[in-house]
Amino acid sequence: MRNPGRNPSVHVANVIGDVLHDIPPDTARDDALDRINASTLKDRANLPRRFASIHDRRTTAHHECGHVMAAFVGGAAQIEVRIRDDATGICIARTVEDPEAGITYSLAGAFAEVKFNPPRIHSYTSGPCADLLISRMRIDQLNAGRTWPQLTYRTAAKTAMRFVDTHWHAIQDLALALDDAGELDDMAIRIFATCRS
Ligand SMILES: [Zn+2]
Repeated sequence: MRNPGRNPSVHVANVIGDVLHDIPPDTARDDALDRINASTLKDRANLPRRFASIHDRRTTAHHECGHVMAAFVGGAAQIEVRIRDDATGICIARTVEDPEAGITYSLAGAFAEVKFNPPRIHSYTSGPCADLLISRMRIDQLNAGRTWPQLTYRTAAKTAMRFVDTHWHAIQDLALALDDAGELDDMAIRIFATCRS
């Protein structure tokens, strides 16, 4: 691991940037789909989910609201979010058009989660989750479409980290509301996303 430096957020951004860098590009897409399908299947079949602790649930609420806030700032027209009893969650947004805002959207969950609950960084270093696999695909897609400037994995991670730091109050408000209600629709999201920004 590299020198942590003075700012813990920058250290987290470098760690996530390096995880993105180490993802094998050829299998990123299939691996991401596998992870997403496994979770949607559970929803469809209504399979029982383990009941999670309050702290796990709050951690997920912050993760999902990192995505929500990035979707909101990225101009998504329709945003929905929910968390489940087993502290898994989902954010659906139609659609973040700008490619770089889309990358921040897929990375903001991890940064909000780790800012709220720092030991959770280990869940990202122990193997890439769907969010990081998707982010890697989006960064590679962006870079394939232009020769300069190339977006590095560390720069993409730092941008998402700064986004979460900048919008932290609104993310916390959204997470509190989500933890309380279990789900937020587009209108509720717009209210909580704007009341302190
Ligand atoms: Zn996520």
